[in-house]
Amino acid sequence: MQTHLLGYPRIGSNRELKKVCEQYWSGKATLNELLETGKNISLQNWKLQQAARIDLVPCNDFSYYDQVLDMTLSVGAIPERYKEIASRASNSELDLYFAMARGYQKDGLDITAMEMTKWFDTNYHYIVPEFHKNQQFRLFSKKIISEFVSAKQAGINAKPVIIGPLTYLLLGKEKEEGFDKLDLAQNLLPVYLQILKELENHGAEYIQFDEPFLALDLNEKAKETYQFIYTEIRKQFPNLKFIVTTYFDGLQDNLSLAASLPVDVLHIDLVRCPEQLDEVLNVIPQTLSLSLGIIDGRNIWKNDFERSLGFIEKAVYAIGSERIFIAPSCSLLHSPYDLDLETNEKTLSPEIKQWMAFAKQKVDEVVALKKLASGKADYQALQQYAENKKAVETRKTSALIHNQDVKDRVDVTTEDDAKRNSPFSIRKEEQQKILQLPLFPTTTIGSFPQTKEVRAWRSKFKKGELTAEQYDDLLKKETERTIRWQEEIGIDVLVHGEFERNDMVEYFGEQLSGFAFTQNGWVQSYGSRCVKPPVIYGDVHRPHPMTVYWSQYAQSLTQKWVKGMLTGPVTILQWSFVRDDQPRSLTCKQIALAIRDEVNDLEKAGIRIIQIDEPAIREGLPLRRSEWQQYLKWAVEAFRISSSGVEDATQIHTHMCYSEFNDIIQNIADMDADVITIECSRSQMELLNAFADFKYPNEIGPGVYDIHSPRVPSKEEMVELLKKAQAVIPAQQLWVNPDCGLKTRHWDETEKALIAMVEASKEAAKIFDKEGNLVK
Ligand code: GLN
Ligand code: ZN
Repeated sequence: MQTHLLGYPRIGSNRELKKVCEQYWSGKATLNELLETGKNISLQNWKLQQAARIDLVPCNDFSYYDQVLDMTLSVGAIPERYKEIASRASNSELDLYFAMARGYQKDGLDITAMEMTKWFDTNYHYIVPEFHKNQQFRLFSKKIISEFVSAKQAGINAKPVIIGPLTYLLLGKEKEEGFDKLDLAQNLLPVYLQILKELENHGAEYIQFDEPFLALDLNEKAKETYQFIYTEIRKQFPNLKFIVTTYFDGLQDNLSLAASLPVDVLHIDLVRCPEQLDEVLNVIPQTLSLSLGIIDGRNIWKNDFERSLGFIEKAVYAIGSERIFIAPSCSLLHSPYDLDLETNEKTLSPEIKQWMAFAKQKVDEVVALKKLASGKADYQALQQYAENKKAVETRKTSALIHNQDVKDRVDVTTEDDAKRNSPFSIRKEEQQKILQLPLFPTTTIGSFPQTKEVRAWRSKFKKGELTAEQYDDLLKKETERTIRWQEEIGIDVLVHGEFERNDMVEYFGEQLSGFAFTQNGWVQSYGSRCVKPPVIYGDVHRPHPMTVYWSQYAQSLTQKWVKGMLTGPVTILQWSFVRDDQPRSLTCKQIALAIRDEVNDLEKAGIRIIQIDEPAIREGLPLRRSEWQQYLKWAVEAFRISSSGVEDATQIHTHMCYSEFNDIIQNIADMDADVITIECSRSQMELLNAFADFKYPNEIGPGVYDIHSPRVPSKEEMVELLKKAQAVIPAQQLWVNPDCGLKTRHWDETEKALIAMVEASKEAAKIFDKEGNLVK
C-alpha cells in the first residue's frame, strides 16, 4: 500500500507567492526574488510531505499563476498576439507567461489577456488554452523538467503532475470554426512524448496525468482519442509508471474506458462518488492498481477514519494491498494550508477547530490511514485514531451544531411557503400602484465604490482604533452622500451602497448562527487572488435582523424607494465551506429560512423593494447533466422560500452575473422574482435572447454598463443597447441598470457612467408611450 498526494497548495502558508507576484507586477520585486520565493514554497511543500512520510511526493503542482497556463507554455501553444513580447530580449519566460495571464500594457503594446474560466465546479479559475485549426505544438517551457530536477536535488524522486493530453485539449477553446480540438491530439502527442523522455532520462519513475474529464460526459470521439493517446504513450514508455487521476465526480459510463487504459494506476474520487467503489473493484483488470481518493480535498473537515478504513479494507480484500494507493480525493490546491495557524478562538472556537483539517493535517491523515489499514499502526497512529473517533462522535451530537428548533422548522416548511400569494400578473399591478415607477426605471445592483477610505475605516474599527459609534457615523455619512447623489442624478430605485459590508457572503455569515471564520484559511481563486470562505459548521439560523438598520436608515433619508440588499441562500452556500454531515440541499434550506426572516423584517420596516442576489446559482450546477434537474429543484426552491413571505405589493428582485441562461431559463423563470437583473453589456444583449425566446414573463434589467472595466460608456451606446433589448423584450418589462455592483470602481468613472445611464433611460422612454407602445 502506498500514499500519495495529487497536489499541494502553492500560494504559501502566509500567501508569500501572492505578495511577491503582486510586487513583481508593480516593479517592486525583482525576478530573482520572485523565483526565490517560488522555489522556497516548493521546497517547503516537499520537505513537509517527506517528513510526514508520503510515499509519492508530487512536483510540478507548483505554479506561478495557473497549472493550465503552465501546460500551455510547456507545449508552446502561445497565441500569435504574444509573439512580440516573446521576442523582446528584456522579457523573461515569466514575463511572457504573465502577459498571457494578465494582458500587457507597456512599451507601446496593448495586448489582451487570455480568457479565464472556472476549473470544473470549483472556485479556482484557469487560463483557457486557445487553439487554431493548424495549431502547432512544441516543447517550449521546461518547467516540468526543471521542477523534477529541483526535487531530485532536494533528495526526492518526485512524481511529476501533468495535465493529461485529453483534459488539456478539452479545456481549450477553438478560436476559429471548422475543426475539432480533439483532432489536435496527433500534433500534441509528440510534445508529451518529448517531456516524458526527458523526465525518464532524469530518473522519473511515476508520472501523474490529471484526466478529470473522465468523470464528465464524453462523446465517442473523445473516448476513442483517450484510447489512442494512452496506447501510444505506453508503447513508447513501457517502464514509466503512469497514474491517471479522475476527480470531482464518478466515472459512471466512462468506467470501462478508464479501466482499459494501458496505465498503471487509476485514481478515483470516493468523496464525491463513494458508490463507485464496488463497480470499479468489479471491473478493474489485474494490471491496474487503484488509488482511493478518500480524504476530501475540497473541504476543511476531518476525515472519518472508521468509514475510510471500511473503503480501504474492501479494496484490499478485492485486489490486495500491493495494488492500493491512498490519497486525498483531488489536489489539495482547494484546501487552505494549515489549521495550526488558526489561533483566534473568538471566530473559530476550539470545539469547532477540533473537527477540522487543512492541507497539512490532511497529509497526516493520509499517512495515518495507511498505517492503520496495513496493521502497522504505531503509537502515534493509534492516538490519532482515538482522537479522530472522538471528534467524529462529538460532531454527531454537539449542541453547537444541532439546533432542534431549526430542524423542526425545516420539517414543517411546505410547498406553500415557497409560493407568493398571487401570480406575477396580479403582483405587478399591486406593486405599480404603490411604486409608481416610470417606463425604463433605473437602478443599480447594490454596491457603490468601496474606496480606500471606506476600507481604512473598517480595518481601524476591527483593530479597535475606531469606536463602533465613530465607525457607524462614518458609514452613515457615506451612505447619505450616496443617497443624495442618486437622488440628484435622478435614479428611480436607490440603494444604500453596501459600505458596511466587507464581502457579500461574509457579511451575512458573520451575523448568522452556524458560521465560523478563519484568519488564514485562504484558497487560491485565480492567479494571486485568494478567497477565505466562511465555514458553515452547524444548523443555520438568524438570531437578529442583519440589514434592516442600514436599509431603514437609507430609506429614512429620501422620498424615493430604497432597495433592500441581500445575498441569496444558494450563493451563501456555494461560496462557503459547507457541512459534510448533511446534504447541501438541507443546509441551503436552513439558510433560505434565515434569509426569509430578513426579507420579512425588511418589509415590516417599510422597504418595498428587496433584492436577493444569486450570482452563484449557475456555478452550482453539477458536472453531469443528468444531475442538473435535481440540483435546480432544490436551489430554486431555496430562493423561493427566501422570497415568498412577503405581500404581493412588495417587489422582489434577484441578480445574476454570468453568461449562458439558455440551459436553465425555465428554472430561472421558476424562481419567480418580480425583477431579474443580469450582466449583459459585454455580450451586447445576446444573453437576452434566452429570455426573449422563452417569452420570459417577469421584468428584466439587462446590464447596459460593463462594470469590470474603468471605461465610461456613452449615453448613445447605452441607448443602442436598450433598443436592442426592447427589440426582443417588451418595453414595459425592461429596467435599466449596470451589469453588477460598483464596489470595485472609482467614484469619478461611476458618476459619469450613471449620469449617462439615466439619460439613456430617459431617451429610451421618449420612444414609447405609457403602455410601452412605440410613439413614432
Ligand atoms: N449586490 C452585490 C453588489 O452590488 C452583487 C454582487 C455580485 O453580483 N457579485 O456588490
Ligand atoms: Zn453581479
